[in-house]
Amino acid sequence: MLRNDDQLATWDRENFFHPSTHLAQHARGQSATRVITGASGVHIEDRDGNRMLDAFAGLYCVNAGYGRTEVADAIAEQAHQLAYYHSYVGHGTETSITLAKMIMDRAPAHMSKVYFGLSGSDANETNIKLVWYYNNILGRPQKKKIISRWRGYHGSGLMTGSLTGLSLFHDKFDLPMNPVIHTDAPYYYRRKDRTQSEAEFTAQCANALEALIQAEGPDTIAAFIGEPVLGTGGIVPPPAGYWDAIQEVLNRHDILLIADEVVTGFGRLGTMFGSDHYGLKPDLITIAKGLTSAYAPLSGSIVSDRMWKVLEQGTDENGPIGHGWTYSAHPICAAAGVANLKLIDDLNLVSNAAEVGGYLNASMKEALGDHPNVGDIRGEGLLCAVEYVADKADATPLDPAAKVGAAISAAMLERGVIARAMPQGDITGFAPPFCISREEVDTVVAATADAVETVLG
Ligand code: PMP
Repeated sequence: MLRNDDQLATWDRENFFHPSTHLAQHARGQSATRVITGASGVHIEDRDGNRMLDAFAGLYCVNAGYGRTEVADAIAEQAHQLAYYHSYVGHGTETSITLAKMIMDRAPAHMSKVYFGLSGSDANETNIKLVWYYNNILGRPQKKKIISRWRGYHGSGLMTGSLTGLSLFHDKFDLPMNPVIHTDAPYYYRRKDRTQSEAEFTAQCANALEALIQAEGPDTIAAFIGEPVLGTGGIVPPPAGYWDAIQEVLNRHDILLIADEVVTGFGRLGTMFGSDHYGLKPDLITIAKGLTSAYAPLSGSIVSDRMWKVLEQGTDENGPIGHGWTYSAHPICAAAGVANLKLIDDLNLVSNAAEVGGYLNASMKEALGDHPNVGDIRGEGLLCAVEYVADKADATPLDPAAKVGAAISAAMLERGVIARAMPQGDITGFAPPFCISREEVDTVVAATADAVETVLG
């Protein structure tokens, strides 16, 4: 943390518009400027020489871990050989074509092609445009609405911020925009009827979706978007049978499924894709973060065979597709992707995510399960969340004004461990790099238990 009289802190306050930051407090110097200067494995280091265990892998993206020279070297080599060429009108580079092949080799079998973007947000914007194009080519111009879930996170652009189901991303921005509607979050722990079984809750989610589709008109609904495991909305794995029940409703009404795998893609659940993990058969898959482990910005929209055929028909009828960005398939980012996916294979990082992820979730339950203010400990693979409550018996939330989740993350930081205070609810989130060891997990769990004890008693 920088002292407020530090030159960089002054420059920062005077010049830098930070995302997801309390702008006024930061400009007044009331919130810390943290300058991160280096990193290795699961640890990052700041300008004052403090070393911290990053149990959230940046923003759950540095999946292969920090300081990977293989990826850094691949980026440098590509920059020297060919820093840029575009991918319009059939152009490509050796790395971008190789990466497309590597992605499709790993994607579910019914997927066909990958379109490259730079962020999860822009990939989801692409997805919505492709869904609309698809329905226009099929001659059903009224089938355009997109259903998302409350607590879903799909980006913070105009359309993707609309898809995101968190009020912080809507309020004062005039979002959500019109063609987006929201349905219930599959958040079993926060069910209203505490006596409900998981199966009953799943049926309720599917029935609510069916009712929404009927109310809007099935002919007007184009697609449903969801993360296999809700991420930013609280790290919430779905209740048993959820995805089967939802897909049954979508198939009945010819509604496309977009699996947003920005967090779950490339191994975080201990399987290559969350779609494999939960038996999803999506028409589009959004990828980003883990594709390059954030060594360079790169995202993608993976398109299914059935959609691809219609997109081809569209260009036969109308000419080239009117969609593309200067930096689509940027060779430097693609080089990072190729090296990263190779590293994930070579080091068996997906099976490590499954194995150490199981250990993380079990250890957290053992250390914190009996605490009177710990209501829920949940996770899948290398995702884990601890949710705090005032009353465990009926899951009564804590007073939001007390900001307990933020206080626990702050107390953990003092103990040298970074975990994320999730933006909605008093929830601590964990999503460490896949290379985390059992000993490092022990450090994370001990810091959590200690911080919870300090803040909640
Ligand atoms: N989808 C999901 C599931 C995400 O978690 C995120 C980012 N946290 C996004 C989309 C948006 O990605 P980006 O921030 O790269 O635009």
